[in-house]
Amino acid sequence: MRKFILAIDQGTTSSRAILFDHSGHIISSAVRELELLYPHEGYVEADPLKIWISVNDVVNEVLIKANCTMKSVDSIGVTNQRETTIVWDKKTGIPVYNAVVWQSRQTVDICNALEDKKDFIHKKTGLLINPYFSASKIRYILDHIKNGQKRAENGELLFGTVDTWLIYKMTNGKKHLTDVTNASRTLLYNIFDMKWDDELLKLFNIPKAMLPQVCPSSYDFGVASYFSPNVHIYGDAGDQHASLFGHNCFEVGDFKNTYGTGCFMLMNIGTKPILSDKGLLTTVAWQVKNKIVYALEGSVFIGGAAVQWLRDGLKVIKTASESEESARKVESSDGIYVVPAFVGLGTPYWDDEVRGAMFGITRATTKYHIVRATLEAIAYQSYDLFECMLKDAGADIKSLRVDGGATANPILMQFQSDILQIEVKKPKVLETTALGVAYLAGLYSGYWTNVEDIKATHEYDCKYEPKMDPKEVEKRIEGWKLAVASARMFKPKRK
Ligand code: ADP
Repeated sequence: MRKFILAIDQGTTSSRAILFDHSGHIISSAVRELELLYPHEGYVEADPLKIWISVNDVVNEVLIKANCTMKSVDSIGVTNQRETTIVWDKKTGIPVYNAVVWQSRQTVDICNALEDKKDFIHKKTGLLINPYFSASKIRYILDHIKNGQKRAENGELLFGTVDTWLIYKMTNGKKHLTDVTNASRTLLYNIFDMKWDDELLKLFNIPKAMLPQVCPSSYDFGVASYFSPNVHIYGDAGDQHASLFGHNCFEVGDFKNTYGTGCFMLMNIGTKPILSDKGLLTTVAWQVKNKIVYALEGSVFIGGAAVQWLRDGLKVIKTASESEESARKVESSDGIYVVPAFVGLGTPYWDDEVRGAMFGITRATTKYHIVRATLEAIAYQSYDLFECMLKDAGADIKSLRVDGGATANPILMQFQSDILQIEVKKPKVLETTALGVAYLAGLYSGYWTNVEDIKATHEYDCKYEPKMDPKEVEKRIEGWKLAVASARMFKPKRK
């Protein structure tokens, strides 16, 4: 019988299931939107049971669409929104609080109180002290339920990121596990020693009894007995890590950028973690068998969201895809720079107070120039990440692999290639996150024999070569840096 790998991709706003065949092609897919809850300003939560129900729905639908049953499934891979935190009762399997989503700022105070421990935490975890990561969220939940701390200490409560929660549910409560990539986003996991760190646990006062066992990303996570008595979960990785794997970034210096609402760039840095002094995060890329690979990660807050602003804010385009046609109406952005610092700037500036700006406007400026300059801003911000990575990793860079909604725009992709002065490659299967975790599962089951076997399935849809004169590139980057510096100087009193 023809077999497939079932990838479950549980994201912030949707759950997805995809069946992949041996050549890495999509057989069928199903998606469910997921409701987010905003109980207070800056708080973002979700109902863990609804997350589980949505996964159930998409698993059923994807099989029905492919006209098959679990009997056709070789194994399952789970990839997930990272850092989102769930705590549940060990006896009943019922969550004791909503899932606190990675974006949520409700633990700012807990993090601010630990500001002086910043370096201590960075040296162990490769992360920054920030509400994004799970540790402060666990602390928050234990503080906001009755006898939280005591129940956790008595071993009555279990913590999990979304992967752990789904594996627990799929194995009918038999397995409480996570993988190294998800563990590396908690602020509790030492990425040098590769274990839960007692000093960090003490710092956040989190009992070890509630933490899942940490496993390689390609591993036997148990039988998904909820769905079938025979199908195992063989893959688990956080979404960005799975995407890096799905892009076949197996060599040091291989890197990818995802152009969604924001941009996420990850670079394979090999088997030794490198700590960044430029604000990049160091994270575990994956573990297959005994081999642990690390990555540097940087993110841009406003990527494709800048195009949404052109559409919904400025109303100069009607759809995101119209940005291409609009930008083509002019030959260049004519010296205009847009700095889309709508919510401050991330790596390497880490400036919460800076706001968006536009420079170089003349009487001749049209909306088309502004659209083009906004697309270019996405590429410049990604260049900033790239520049940090080059300095930190010192690796030999050949090409950038890309995915995400905004890669549909050839103007943006060509400009990205021009500014980075390297080739930009877009794969045929853009669902690289789901594909990555399918690969991880299939490697464990023997569906794919080895990495070479996987590489043979990997195909590119299109490639962009740099066309711009290097002198021009230099001038443009100089202009961008000046625009950012100028925007950062404009800090009027806001009260
Ligand atoms: P997310 O996973 O963050 O929701 P997606 O990968 O679905 O993001 O990509 C959506 C983003 O891509 C939106 O911000 C949208 O503005 C942008 N986008 C979609 N199509 C285009 C396009 N043709 N040109 C530029 N940006 C686009």
